[in-house]
Amino acid sequence: MQTSLRHTSSRIEPVVLAGAYFFMASIALASSRFEGGLAFIWGANALLMAYLLTSRASVWPRALIACGMASALSTALWGMGTAAAIPMAGINLLEALIVALICRRFAPGGKFAGSMQPLFVFILALCGPANLVAGLAAASVASALTTVPFGASLLQWYTGHVLGGLTCTPILIMLMKGELRRWFGQTRRWAKCEALGLLLLFALATGFVFYVARFPMLFALLLPMVAIVFRLGNLGAAASVIILAMIGGMATMTGHGPLHMIPGTLGERMQYFQLFLAFSFLLSMPIAAELNSRRRLFQMLQESEARYRAIAENSGDVVLNIRVDGVIEYASPSAAEQIGCAPELLIGQDAANLVDPVDREQVTATLDRALHQPGEVQTVEFRPFISAQGSEWCEMVARAVVDERGMPTGLVCTIRDMSRHKARQRALQQVAALDSLTGADSRRAFLEKLEEEMLRARHGGRACLLLIDIDHFKTVNDCHGHGAGDRVLAGFVDRLRPGLRGGDSIGRLGGEEFAILLGGTDVVRASMICERLREMVTAHPVQIDSGDLIPVTFSAGLVALSGQSDSQAVLEAADKALYNAKHSGRNCLRLAA
Ligand code: GH3
Ligand code: MG
Ligand code: MG
Repeated sequence: MQTSLRHTSSRIEPVVLAGAYFFMASIALASSRFEGGLAFIWGANALLMAYLLTSRASVWPRALIACGMASALSTALWGMGTAAAIPMAGINLLEALIVALICRRFAPGGKFAGSMQPLFVFILALCGPANLVAGLAAASVASALTTVPFGASLLQWYTGHVLGGLTCTPILIMLMKGELRRWFGQTRRWAKCEALGLLLLFALATGFVFYVARFPMLFALLLPMVAIVFRLGNLGAAASVIILAMIGGMATMTGHGPLHMIPGTLGERMQYFQLFLAFSFLLSMPIAAELNSRRRLFQMLQESEARYRAIAENSGDVVLNIRVDGVIEYASPSAAEQIGCAPELLIGQDAANLVDPVDREQVTATLDRALHQPGEVQTVEFRPFISAQGSEWCEMVARAVVDERGMPTGLVCTIRDMSRHKARQRALQQVAALDSLTGADSRRAFLEKLEEEMLRARHGGRACLLLIDIDHFKTVNDCHGHGAGDRVLAGFVDRLRPGLRGGDSIGRLGGEEFAILLGGTDVVRASMICERLREMVTAHPVQIDSGDLIPVTFSAGLVALSGQSDSQAVLEAADKALYNAKHSGRNCLRLAA
């Protein structure tokens, strides 16, 4: 997250950074060049690395130049002299730059003190490429300019830089990111007192181990350290490492403490102490990081749990949590209203019991599918076994709940009453299937019936299609108006109906063009029916609102459905026959060729 990085144009910052770098480097050089070569302790690069890791790359050049100058000056004044000043400054910068570049590439914007992955990237970069390259270069310079051999110099550099970097960088990152300030702002008073008390106790214990105890008791500090990490998290871990470094470092340098009991030079004891510090750090920081991510996870879980509860308890739908074996674990309050059963009575029951036996198999299969395809939502409609509201149809939506390995641990289901929706759907379908003016089948519904009849014809069934068009209908509209025309259309269909048999269908294909499907009928019989219809229509003119009687005649084309052709061909054949009827003077029937 680039946004968490500082991007500053402040001119003071590089100066402050250089000052702090010079101070840390000077102390290390003045106090820890035990063998006259490289320093045994080196925390200054941790400062530069922390700065680079918390800043945008655009401010890196300024920081590198500032720290390079500070490094060169401190080496010239307190280290291996002016000859080593420039090369050592370059090597220090190289180490910090390698770490910063690797972290930027593999853990961009990483919160080094808050999670595991960026921390590991940092540790690997520091212990691997950065200090292997820098260590070899520094040991070459030191062995050329001083009497310390190459191998010893390499070890001094490596331990000093790796241990200093490990111990100080994450702590400095936290400080630079303002975590301490944030902690002060966000923490309650009693929690601050507790933190202070714990750290004070830890300081006393450290003082006791390093100044008072007669036996080597370094191990005794690990327990309070871990306790602090658990209570205070990242910052507690950082603070305890700082306390340990200050009290223990001072004691070891001045000849006190358990490390004095081991034989060796002061330099070796300091290396040993740094090793102890690094191990303390490696123990505490990852625990803090892990705790931190768990705390974040827990908070997210609580938020999502609260959201889920709010939805489940206020939803009109029934929300169920179902175990892998199908047993209900939780039922939302709406179960009482929808199913007519108190939620607590549903708990422990098999979810399949809510479903009508007819649909049980289908519902169980859907729940199984949801369990086997976690992440996917499965939907099934079913008839409920019991329903307080007389629901005929319900819809169940199911989704698996998975554990951290992605294995299903149960299901979350919502059940919704679909009766009203179904009834509306049915009504809509009916409306869509009928022509609103005449009550005949709509074009679509009629064509579907024709399609079914074609299928029967393919299996040997007999049927005929009669295509009808009212003669000179424009004249009705023109003479009596469109309303009267509508009335005539409706009356026309009313006159046809009594002439149709139970299984026959009449549909309005458009305008004043109709079609009649005569099932189980050959052309001869169909012609007779058509003649009868023609007579009925002619004999009964339609009365319009003005009281006038409008005589109606129609022309028709007749075609027998054939198993070999399709509905389109049948309609075209009927249309041609109708055209012939019109051209033969109207008010007559023509057969398709
Ligand atoms: P023909 O004998 O050749 O069929 O003559 P026609 O006047 O009936 O001619 P045609 O079938 O081409 O014309 C149909 C007319 O039906 C045209 C249109 O104004 C009228 N029409 C179509 N749909 C409706 C309707 O829903 N209501 C009314 N009132 N008139 C309609
Ligand atoms: Mg017409
Ligand atoms: Mg027409």
